[in-house]
Amino acid sequence: MITLARESAKIIRSLWYTAESACVLCSGKHGPICPDCTREYLHPELGRCLRCGKLIVPEKVLCLDCEIGKGPKQLERVAVWGHYSGGLKRFIRELKFASTPLHFQRIARPLTDWAIKALPAVDGVVAVPMHPARLAERGFNQAEVIASLLHWELGLPIFQGLERVKLTPPQVALSRRERLSNLKGAFALRKPDSFQGREVWIVDDVTTTGSTLEAVAEVLRGNGAKAVYGFCLAAGLEKVLVPLSD
Ligand SMILES: [Zn+2]
Ligand SMILES: [Zn+2]
Repeated sequence: MITLARESAKIIRSLWYTAESACVLCSGKHGPICPDCTREYLHPELGRCLRCGKLIVPEKVLCLDCEIGKGPKQLERVAVWGHYSGGLKRFIRELKFASTPLHFQRIARPLTDWAIKALPAVDGVVAVPMHPARLAERGFNQAEVIASLLHWELGLPIFQGLERVKLTPPQVALSRRERLSNLKGAFALRKPDSFQGREVWIVDDVTTTGSTLEAVAEVLRGNGAKAVYGFCLAAGLEKVLVPLSD
């Protein structure tokens, strides 16, 4: 009986350690993110559009959309960690919809190591807020979870006081222009001068057209913020790169 208990403990321990050292994106070896997933989803060989954060060929500075003025305008820069596809897309969706924010801790170190190189130092971070009705449904705001990683790992204060005051319908099928008009008046500050003179990163999980970041940046800049940057876990690739990946 004792041998059985000892053996079971050994198996459980080995499973535990396997899970802890596994890659969070493919469950293979060499976590938290294995070299294959780094290549596949984080694309260290690609550049990022300085305006919207989309992954682009390294020789370029802006993506095609931003070159013709269709990018966010209120932000100094947007930094995006990875490509929203495959394992990274599954990871983010699981986090959002299967209520597993604890998994986020596993990516804290690689994500924040990347973040401090990608953006300048600021006074603090602010998470894209969720409408109270959505928050009540989901139970947590994934953007706040990412902001808290940046807080714990980098010591950046989390600024409060930004609220989502309008419940907007899902944006998935909308164009950039439709998204911007959808988001008009969606965000507001509890105290108008709370961001006066401050430099901040706006934190969100995924950016598609940059319109959410822009709507938040507009409110912050309109209330005296000095510089506003965007920080997201994932974005799409530039259209011309899509056939090269999935
Ligand atoms: Zn992997
Ligand atoms: Zn761009």
